Order: sequence, then C-alpha cells, then structure tokens
Amino acid sequence: VNFGDQLVSPEEKTRRVGAVFSSVARRYDLMNDLMSAGTHRLWKDRFVGRVKPQRGEHILDMAGGTGDIAFRMAKRGALVTVSDINADMLGVGMERAEQRGIEGLSWSQQNAETLTFPDRQFDAYTIAFGIRNVTDIPKALREAHRVLKFGGRLFVLEFSTSEWPGFGDAYELWADKMIPRIGKVVADDEESYRYLVESIRRFPKPQQFRAMIADAGFQRASVETLMGGLVCIWSGWKV
Ligand code: SAM
Repeated sequence: VNFGDQLVSPEEKTRRVGAVFSSVARRYDLMNDLMSAGTHRLWKDRFVGRVKPQRGEHILDMAGGTGDIAFRMAKRGALVTVSDINADMLGVGMERAEQRGIEGLSWSQQNAETLTFPDRQFDAYTIAFGIRNVTDIPKALREAHRVLKFGGRLFVLEFSTSEWPGFGDAYELWADKMIPRIGKVVADDEESYRYLVESIRRFPKPQQFRAMIADAGFQRASVETLMGGLVCIWSGWKV
C-alpha cells in the first residue's frame, strides 16, 4: 500500500500514520488554521449542517481526533462517541472538551477497520479528514455500515480533486511548497506534513469515492462538492 509516495506493507502504513498523528497532535489545531487559512472551520460547519444531528441521537465520530466535529454535534444535543486509533489525538481532544465544558461525549480508541462496537448501534457515522489515512478503506466503510442502525446515515468529509480550471493546480503547488514548510516552522516536523499533502493527492475523485460508498452497501450514495471538489461531503444511507 502507499504511504505518501512510498510502498510499504499495510501494517507499516498503519504504524507510520500513527507516528504522524502522535507527532502532530499538540500542534494539530493551530496547523489546521494555518494550512487552510481558517477555512476548515467553514467546511466543518457545512458538514455538520448536512449531518443535522438531532437531540438524543447516537453518533459515532470516527477518526474524531481532537474533537472538532464531535463538539459541533454535541452542542446540538447529540450523544457522540469520539473514536480514533491514536491515543495522543484523543488525549488532546479530551482536554479541549473539558476546558470548553462540552457534555454528551464519550471517548473510545478504535481502528476504523475493526470496530469493537456491536451491530446496529448508531444513528449516524461521521468521518472528517480521516478516511484517507485508513489503510483498508473498503473495510472501514463496511464496518461503518455494520455499526449503523437501519435508517442510519454515513457522512464523509475529505479532500478530493477540484474541477475548477487552474484552481486544483494552484492548490497543489501551494500545498506542495508551503504546507511542509509551515509544518517545519510550527511543529518542527516537515515529513509528517509531506505525508499529509501526498495522501490528499492520492485520494479518489468525487465520483470514484461515491462508487466506493455504494459498493460498501450504502443506498442513495451522493456527493456534494465544495470549491469545485477540493473538499467533498459524501453521504449514504443504510436501509
Ligand atoms: N476528524 C478530525 C478533524 O476533522 O479535525 C481529525 C482529522 S485528522 C486529519 C485524521 C485522524 O484520523 C487522526 O486523528 C488519525 O489518528 C485518525 N486515523 C488514522 N487512521 C485511522 C484508523 N485506521 N482508524 C481510526 N482513526 C484513524
């Protein structure tokens, strides 16, 4: 499998992704603001607007990291399980939740490929900027389907490919040159940010990933593109 532009074994990829996020956990939130000039906040607001979390619903926020998506959903009264493979990211998230006094959250360290939850537990499953880091994506999508109730919804927020003429290229150039540099200055970790840029480049196109969601058993799979597809929101239903 690919780790950035290198070929490694699946186990090695999972290990290296773990090292990347352990390394960036402390500076993760600041870096998001710097790398996206704050726009990740708007994408996340838009995403949660699509999810429309209801009071009392049980939502699994997979690859939830430091809690950005989960906090937005909990504020609307949903009961959110924040899951991530990385204990360092979850640790930062728990501290932030406590500082902000956010309630309705539970935390669970999980690999998206092999969830320990029983079948049909959740009303919705969200994963934001997480799926591209998962080693076996089809397996993670099948697991999402398994843990959803009938009538439950899957929502994925991820970088993809912009169809806006010139914009995709301009973004790539900027990401290639600037993101690793910002990573070096702010987090003293150029390599991790190089991986993050490369993993964005490799993610499937909007319609390709829509087909992967359908292949995992989801009905009415659809995609909404933001900035021409630079960022997309995919959704599907378990019926
Ligand atoms: N959802 C958060 C957000 O939008 O700010 C965090 C996104 S962060 C870019 C990606 C997260 O995916 C990291 O916290 C990483 O540990 C997690 N991750 C990577 N592989 C995973 C896996 N196999 N299972 C669960 N989480 C995983």
